[in-house]
Amino acid sequence: MDLGGRVAVVTGASRGIGRAIALELARRGAVVVVNYAGNAAAAEKTASAIREAGGGALVIKADVADQEQVNQMMKQVLDEYGRVDILVNNAGITRDNLLPRLREEDWDAVINVNLKGAYNCARAVMRPMLKARWGRIINISSVVGLTGNAGQANYAAAKAGLLGFTRSLARELGSRNITVNAVAPGYITTDMTAGLSEENKARMLQNVPLGRFGAPEEVAAAVAFLAGETAGYITGQLIVVDGGMTMQ
Ligand code: NAP
Repeated sequence: MDLGGRVAVVTGASRGIGRAIALELARRGAVVVVNYAGNAAAAEKTASAIREAGGGALVIKADVADQEQVNQMMKQVLDEYGRVDILVNNAGITRDNLLPRLREEDWDAVINVNLKGAYNCARAVMRPMLKARWGRIINISSVVGLTGNAGQANYAAAKAGLLGFTRSLARELGSRNITVNAVAPGYITTDMTAGLSEENKARMLQNVPLGRFGAPEEVAAAVAFLAGETAGYITGQLIVVDGGMTMQ
């Protein structure tokens, strides 16, 4: 139970990778705030799974793109637990299209949730982490932020932006014992990738040395490592969990 006594906020924890992260942090002893945007039933299911396994969970609906909602969420967490030790900026969406057809609202939506959401959440947890002189911020980027992807200029820009955000915050907060790192998943089996055609999947797998898609739990394991005490001298780094797809 290396996260015993810690309070973790996981954004977008109702489904997919966020759900797996929430379960893993709870399994290691953290009380987990399960944030979601619209799917209350799924968020409650995540929380129930945590509680059934003997952990503690609090479900909070908040759109991470909305600073006011994020501030309210963090206020609720502080009122309830008096601390926030771990923030995982996982909430993310895609609105794919080639640039000529990429509408301004799709650009804005993806940047606002995936990038500004991390800014909103990090700002809102700053004060308690600075006061405690301990903190872990983990931003979920993507291999697409490293390589780019046709049809995902908005998503790639947001995910690459998260890496600059991670490194800057790591420099700002290092002296206060707060680490800031990023995890970049490759192709992971979740709702986000469920829509890919079989042809597309087969084409993508040709570039994955491990020859398979990843599981959400395999991303969660990297996040849990970064959240733990033993990762205390690692900051400003990126762990890529992609089956070897983007290795240099
Ligand atoms: P997913 O299955 O589509 O789940 C998305 C999660 O984000 C849901 O819990 C959703 O909540 C939440 N969310 C969406 N918009 C939100 C908002 N405005 N405020 C708060 N929560 C919001 O996605 P996933 O595949 O697990 O992806 C999780 C993260 O990993 C994302 O940042 C994604 O970009 C990244 N990633 C995924 C892959 C992959 O292959 N799956 C690869 C690389 C990176 P509701 O249930 O309420 O809608």
